[in-house]
Amino acid sequence: MSVWEKSSTARVVPSARPRKLAKVPFVELADGRLQGVVSSGSDIGRVYVSSVEAGSFAFACSTNNNRPCGGARGWFCNHIRALIGEAVLQYGVDRVARYLRAEVAGEAPDADSVTHAMTATRPAQGDSSAAAQVFSRFLRQLAYLELAPTTAPLPEMQWFPTTRAVA
Ligand SMILES: [Zn+2]
Repeated sequence: MSVWEKSSTARVVPSARPRKLAKVPFVELADGRLQGVVSSGSDIGRVYVSSVEAGSFAFACSTNNNRPCGGARGWFCNHIRALIGEAVLQYGVDRVARYLRAEVAGEAPDADSVTHAMTATRPAQGDSSAAAQVFSRFLRQLAYLELAPTTAPLPEMQWFPTTRAVA
């Protein structure tokens, strides 16, 4: 090993910064909806509960305190887009598209294709009446993992494992 390699290895210092809440700590295909919890990105204490209904693509987004998301007025907000992205990562694009009944075009569809297929139909804004239920399932998952949503850094772990589908 050259001196350069040694010194470059030695420079690798683990980050001491606290881990943030995962961008999308909870996602599920349930109750005829893609739904989940998306962190605000700026405020660790604030999360959004976002959902898209299968078939109609009626969408909803509100905070855990049941305030409507300012970005979801007539349009998929960034939280809903992040939710779709995470769902595609976890379940695969085919399964997400099939569940939502989205007509995805193209040979190599991805999360953007699914999002586009839905927004192209100009979906209506749905109600967020299921948000409390989704949020409580998220909290139960946290409790199950014995982690509180505002816990300080967990050096060796990601915030919490996501509910990855078993292939
Ligand atoms: Zn939103």
